[in-house]
Amino acid sequence: MTQNPARTDHEPLRRIRDEILARHRFLITSHLKPDGDSIGSQMALAYALRAIGKDVRIVNCDPAQPGLLPFPGVSDIEIASRADGEFDAVIVLECSELARTGVAGLERFFVINIDHHAGNAMYGAVNWFDGGAAACGEMVFDVIRSLDVPLTKEMAMHVYVAILTDTGSFHFSSLSPRTFDICRQALEAGADPVWVARTVYDSNSIGRIRLSSAILSTLEVDPSGRLATIRLDREMARATGGSYDDLEGLINEPLTVKSVLAVAFFKEWEPGVYRVSLRSKGEIDVRSVAQQFGGGGHKNAAGCTVAGDLAAVCAQIVPPLLVAIGRSAQTNG
Ligand code: 5GP
Ligand code: MN
Repeated sequence: MTQNPARTDHEPLRRIRDEILARHRFLITSHLKPDGDSIGSQMALAYALRAIGKDVRIVNCDPAQPGLLPFPGVSDIEIASRADGEFDAVIVLECSELARTGVAGLERFFVINIDHHAGNAMYGAVNWFDGGAAACGEMVFDVIRSLDVPLTKEMAMHVYVAILTDTGSFHFSSLSPRTFDICRQALEAGADPVWVARTVYDSNSIGRIRLSSAILSTLEVDPSGRLATIRLDREMARATGGSYDDLEGLINEPLTVKSVLAVAFFKEWEPGVYRVSLRSKGEIDVRSVAQQFGGGGHKNAAGCTVAGDLAAVCAQIVPPLLVAIGRSAQTNG
């Protein structure tokens, strides 16, 4: 399998490299509720820009999930809902719309938009969208390479955690030979895949286990066995001592059942409002379902926010999910 040599020499990437080299003060941000790809991409890029003498601040609207806090530099990320200060450029990573950063005031600056979510609104002065990247971390890896910055252990760990988490631990169909080539280079640069996996996935509290078991006990499967749903409300979190913030990966649990092809996870966000996370296997496109409710994401991992009580929200989401599953069965059948 050959590598694609054009990856570090194409127009958006050349332009991004030139704009970075010409500027000095950067603000890096990402989407609200940052996940492993958001944090890993931001941190890897921040280390690289600092390595060439740039002034970098990372500002996010929400803190990183607990499993990401032990990674280098993550505890220094600023949490704010406004961009205060002066910057020569804002680099927005892994975020399909500027408003999804949850950080106000970014539009005053020169915005560089780097993302792999289909439907990216191309809101930057420079936009690089690559729907074929398994993680935004893959794109950041290209930026680092294009700047000729040697990959340090810190950058490598962050690129690796971005890819590990955004591929659902190497389960999603977005994987490519290139994904593994970047992981190989990350390991050669000192990323320890065992430490990374243990730190992101195996650093749970007892409350997390109790809450997970409560959530999994809500499991329902449709008569065909192909669609699973689970749910969470504030009372369950209170009763178990678990937190909404450290449920990374739990939604993948029902997908480990052979017959289950898609999962919907309904999380009570505030009274009468549900965050819905969707996951699927193979060709089943849950992003198209999330989009019907104003959300987005990827084919195999998407989400949206829906108002209503649980029964009403389920009644809206489940039928289009069954249609998406049926459509895929037809194509493959
Ligand atoms: P999660 O279920 O982990 O919250 O999100 C899964 C994927 O869908 C992530 O890539 C996330 O960025 C995307 N996503 C989740 N909710 C929304 C949403 O409301 N709007 C958009 N555009 N993307 C979303
Ligand atoms: Mn991502």
